[in-house]
Amino acid sequence: MPERLDGPAYGRRAFTVLVAALVAGFVACMLTGWGGASVTRAVSGGGTVAITVAAGIACLARARACRGRDRTVWALFTAGAFVYACGEAAWAGIESIAGREVPFPSLPDAGYLGMVPLATLGLLLVPMPRRSAPQRLRALADAAMIACSLLLISWLLVLDPLLAEGGTVVSRAVALGYPVSGVLLVTAVLHVLAVLRRDDPHAGALTLVAVAMVVLGVSDSAYAFLSLHDSYSSGGLLDAGWFVAFALVLLAARYPAKQAAVADGPAEPRTFALLVPYAPILLAVVCSVLFSAVTGRTDGFHAGCRAVLILLIVARQLLTLLENRHLTRHLEDRVAARTAELQASELRFRALVQQSSESVAVIEADSTVRYQSDSIERIFGWPAGLLLGRRLVEIAGRRSGSRIAAAIEAVVAGPETVTVLEVPMRHQDGRVRLAEMTITNLLGVPAVGGLVLNTRDVHDAKELQERLVHEAYHDALTGLPSRALFRERLVEAVARAAGTDDVAILFLDLDDFQEVNDSLGHAAGDLLLCQVAERLSAAVREGDTVARFGGDEFGVIVESVAARADAESVAGRIAAALEAPFLVGERELPVAASIGLACAADAEDVEQLQRNADLAMYRAKSGGGNGMAAYDPAMLSGLVQRLELEADLRAALARDELVLHYQPTVDLRTGEITGFEALVRWHHPVRGMIPPLEFIGAAEATGLIVPLGRWVLREACRQAVAWGAGTTRELKMAVNVSVRQFEHGDLAATVGEVVAETGMPVGQLCLEMTESVLLTDTDENLAQLRRLKDLGVTLAMDDFGTGYSSLAYLRRFPMDTLKIDRSFVERLGGDSEDEALVRTIVRLGQSLGMTTVAEGIEDAAQLSILQDLRCDYAQGFYLSRPLPADEAGRVLLEGFSAKVN
Ligand code: C2E
Ligand code: CA
Ligand code: CA
Repeated sequence: MPERLDGPAYGRRAFTVLVAALVAGFVACMLTGWGGASVTRAVSGGGTVAITVAAGIACLARARACRGRDRTVWALFTAGAFVYACGEAAWAGIESIAGREVPFPSLPDAGYLGMVPLATLGLLLVPMPRRSAPQRLRALADAAMIACSLLLISWLLVLDPLLAEGGTVVSRAVALGYPVSGVLLVTAVLHVLAVLRRDDPHAGALTLVAVAMVVLGVSDSAYAFLSLHDSYSSGGLLDAGWFVAFALVLLAARYPAKQAAVADGPAEPRTFALLVPYAPILLAVVCSVLFSAVTGRTDGFHAGCRAVLILLIVARQLLTLLENRHLTRHLEDRVAARTAELQASELRFRALVQQSSESVAVIEADSTVRYQSDSIERIFGWPAGLLLGRRLVEIAGRRSGSRIAAAIEAVVAGPETVTVLEVPMRHQDGRVRLAEMTITNLLGVPAVGGLVLNTRDVHDAKELQERLVHEAYHDALTGLPSRALFRERLVEAVARAAGTDDVAILFLDLDDFQEVNDSLGHAAGDLLLCQVAERLSAAVREGDTVARFGGDEFGVIVESVAARADAESVAGRIAAALEAPFLVGERELPVAASIGLACAADAEDVEQLQRNADLAMYRAKSGGGNGMAAYDPAMLSGLVQRLELEADLRAALARDELVLHYQPTVDLRTGEITGFEALVRWHHPVRGMIPPLEFIGAAEATGLIVPLGRWVLREACRQAVAWGAGTTRELKMAVNVSVRQFEHGDLAATVGEVVAETGMPVGQLCLEMTESVLLTDTDENLAQLRRLKDLGVTLAMDDFGTGYSSLAYLRRFPMDTLKIDRSFVERLGGDSEDEALVRTIVRLGQSLGMTTVAEGIEDAAQLSILQDLRCDYAQGFYLSRPLPADEAGRVLLEGFSAKVN
């Protein structure tokens, strides 16, 4: 494809053609002697003056367009061209205008010779690429070699004959100046050409200048030689040398600079540059041999020059050798370092795979095991070597094998597809364990070329999950569904009803049950509750749900076409069933209940439905108990009470009626207090100390929890800083936060502010939250948790085991601590089955890298079991009740290691 030219490129081409035409004309004139000697002389003088001035102007323009060193270089060329032009003008003046022969030496020689140092300096100042020290030394040796060779050639051809000529000292000195200048110029030129980078922006222009200087140097030497023999006369062919030289300088100055080179690496020498120094040497050797052969003599200078040249060649070879050694060593070091790096990363990788709690295997598409990590022995008891080369679908047994085969088939269908399956696997000791297997298709990845199999033992976790779900959904005492299951079934029932059928619920609260507990003890209370549960279950219709909410509260779901009427009759049957007294131990106890009834038709959602039933139940209770009340919108006035509570609470915040009590957290290995949990109380001027469970709910419902929570956080941090002052002890402070604090405000921002304000070391602050935080509005909450983690706060999962307890959530959220709920600790010390449950929870925490805290330790037996189970920390009345700040400070100083050993 022909090169397309833009405007400036056309102009350049035309200019080059014009200069070439001028050169051709000049040479033709000199060659043919057209018009006689006086004409050629005039043409030669005028032409050369014109071309040198033109070259000088072009160099000046170039210098002005450049910056830095490049500008200096072109300024020196400009000066050189003008100095030369002066000499040439003087020559032409004397010859053409005064009409006499120009004597030798004379004024013009000063101009000619004056140009040489300027041009040489310019060439030496050309910016060179970055070079290493050996490279720089070698370049110097090359320059010396070139200079020496040229000097030898010049000596043999020009200098020696010149010296042999007679003439005045001045004339001989000036005559010698020309060849010496030539040597200088050519040396500088070759030096520049040898080190110039191909991508130097001025490479093209400088190459042209270099060629011009060589032409000039040769012409000067020839001129000197001819002058001394008085055989030079201007207007001859030799004059074309200078004309051509400055025509080249003119073109060079107009030669466009390329885009500045981006690469800054070491110079990449051009092949021809490597050979540059050898050309003059070769020429010098040829000259030297021919000269000796022809004349049969060798003078001192000739011999000395040769000797120096040989020395230089040897030195240069040595330098090259050293440089190569240096390069090789550098390369070897690089290779060694890279190899070590690779080895280290492979070791690291292998260690990771081997130490992992997963087994990692690479299998082929037909399930033949090609690689198996040693970790499998720790997990399933099988030595890795036993599996190598065998087909997994065969080892896994018939049922698991066929499921694995199906999974492999699905994965092989698409590159980089992943599938997860749960299959039973036999442990080496004979037990069947549930394994979670992730198969990733990396058949297309050359480094792997197989299916990667990550296998974990999820048996215990799965069992625990099922246990926990059962625990969460069932009341441990009576075996009835729990509040959580009640709610879930209610949601389903309401969805099923969807307008046609109806759903009604009953809330039931035993009257005066607290008295039974107080007078006959908890055991009697528990027995009574179990009997009540039995009678309730018997009184409802088949398909109705009876649940225990906790304490003496129960709930019933009635699902039918006429739910209200049916619920009323169920309530009547329940009242009748409770009429007969209960037999507890030796005593007969009468039990009555207050029942509230509400229908889904009156409520917008399940929450409201439950609230309505609650309101109705309170109405029944405030009517004297032992009766039933159905929800009526008028009851909403009861809400007024709640509003009063809200106003009270708001005032409490303003009046500073809230206080914090602190319950110590104890290290189960050392018995030392490692920190406190801050628990809020309301110091009511009339009602006395109100526990948090009586007002936190209202605070959450009204949003007051946000300012309240901020107050708790600030007060707890302030206290922790006060306790920490003057000690090196890193005391942890745990603060409870509710899910509403995530929803109603930016908790992370609040924490950041409080920490900055109080000077609390953020790593010592722990936020406790229940699973509800993980269950509602998951993504937004997860983001907030991450921000809290980024601040450096520790996060604890409170009351673990009482919520929905999804283990998947635990893996997903960045929790540091697991607080085992009091209801599990409560059951320790008797039945060993429950001990197993707590053990599994502690292990689960450990396997997820979380520290474990047991809550609610009430006796020494529980404490020692938890120590045996290697639980990390503990809290509980046995160790210390929550204490006011001053008392907690005292306990902190004294400790109570006597209880823990
Ligand atoms: P929690 O976070 O599970 O706190 C532990 C509760 O168990 C405390 O009740 C504590 O006094 C009690 N406790 C500790 N050891 C034992 C023991 O050995 N036996 C028994 N039976 N109980 C023990 P408290 O102080 O009444 O707090 C109740 C709940 O109120 C807390 O449960 C927490 O969920 C909430 N709460 C307390 N302070 C705050 C607060 O500042 N903000 C928020 N959002 N909630 C708070
Ligand atoms: Ca807590
Ligand atoms: Ca708790």
